[in-house]
Amino acid sequence: MNELEKMYAGMGIESYVYEYGEAVLQKLSERFRKIDEIAEYNQMKVIKAMQEAQVSEACLLGTTGYGYNDIGRDTLEAVYAGIFHTEDALVRPQITCGTHALALALMSNVRPGDEILSPVGKPYDTLEEVIGIRPSRGSLAEYGVTYRQVDLLEDGSFDYDRIRESINERTHLVTIQRSKGYQTRPTLSVNRIGELIAFIKSIKPDIICMVDNCYGEFVETIEPTDVGADMVVGSLIKNPGGGLAPIGGYIAGTRECVENAAFRLTSPGLGKEVGASLGILKDFYQGLFLAPTVTACALKGAIFAANLYEPLGFGVVPDSTESRHDIIQAITFGKPEGVIAFCKGIQAAAPVDSFVTPEPWDMPGYDAKVIMAAGAFVSGSSIELSADGPIKPPYAVYFQGGLTWQHAKFGILMSLQSVLNSGLVEKEALKL
Ligand SMILES: *Cc1c(COP(=O)(O)O)cnc(C)c1O
Repeated sequence: MNELEKMYAGMGIESYVYEYGEAVLQKLSERFRKIDEIAEYNQMKVIKAMQEAQVSEACLLGTTGYGYNDIGRDTLEAVYAGIFHTEDALVRPQITCGTHALALALMSNVRPGDEILSPVGKPYDTLEEVIGIRPSRGSLAEYGVTYRQVDLLEDGSFDYDRIRESINERTHLVTIQRSKGYQTRPTLSVNRIGELIAFIKSIKPDIICMVDNCYGEFVETIEPTDVGADMVVGSLIKNPGGGLAPIGGYIAGTRECVENAAFRLTSPGLGKEVGASLGILKDFYQGLFLAPTVTACALKGAIFAANLYEPLGFGVVPDSTESRHDIIQAITFGKPEGVIAFCKGIQAAAPVDSFVTPEPWDMPGYDAKVIMAAGAFVSGSSIELSADGPIKPPYAVYFQGGLTWQHAKFGILMSLQSVLNSGLVEKEALKL
């Protein structure tokens, strides 16, 4: 046993799990090299944007009160615009989460009588209430904004005929979700998003194309705004916050779209001019600086898990060899015990709250008990190693994140050890 193996053994990873993990890893070196190459490109992209915006030490300080002339805040927004190649950006701690950023982008860019179209099927759960697909107080539906949806075809491709039929004189904004979220459809590559946007603009050039970019940032070398999106929207406690941002959301896009959002976030007439950054800017900058590397680590973890669990006979989405366009990994256990054991393993590997045992629980908005594993520095942060699964068929667990590859690896090995300890997999199955 080498020193590393001894260290793992001391942390609860038996040598047969460790050896199996090493055997799986052997086959992944080429894929990991490609991920590192993307991270390297994106690291340059971030540094270039920071240099061009002339980030200075003064930018790392903050303002209070109204926040007039907040040079750090305004410069950070220029950095985001530089990274996404957009005219402008809104990056604020006053945007409380991803759903809020998306709601803001939608509500500020449509008017009563307009229609929103989703050509990629059902949007993320929380957006159902924003749009009013599920009746909700304050939804866009209450303001007379209507919604249409075109599902993807059986094989995951775009239903171009129905999209064409659905675009009418009232269609003002198209919302495209890049990540599959917690659905089974494939995640969209940036190039596929570009094809869809080109098609939509060929029918009606002035439609605003918005992309829900959650979990997608820095996974590829290009972003949806490089292929025609008018706006990208996301959360800072996912990829672009690099694990350091303690709150926040962003919208990057055309000057008009961003201005609309700013006037809605603060107030008509005030817009981007107010909004104190308090003491948060250093973490926003430093997190963004780390984000390409952190995203690469999370991506390696997702691929490692797919390759670890697939040979054991569990369904994995994406599968072990598929190209990746977001950081989410789904593993189907087919039994509640599998979901529970997996989450217990992830929790046991956490730097924070490793000693607590996650249990399935009733959660608001869910129709089944849900188990969640998260030992995060930032509460609810899903760029940190985290997992959750509803206790209902097909008994799948969704996991994502990992601020370092080493932690992602440890967490995933721990999950497998936990699954083995629960008797769901025989030790003998661990060979390639
Ligand atoms: C996480 C996520 C959201 C919502 O973000 P919250 O910060 O949880 O409100 C929206 N869309 C997608 C695709 C997401 O992954």
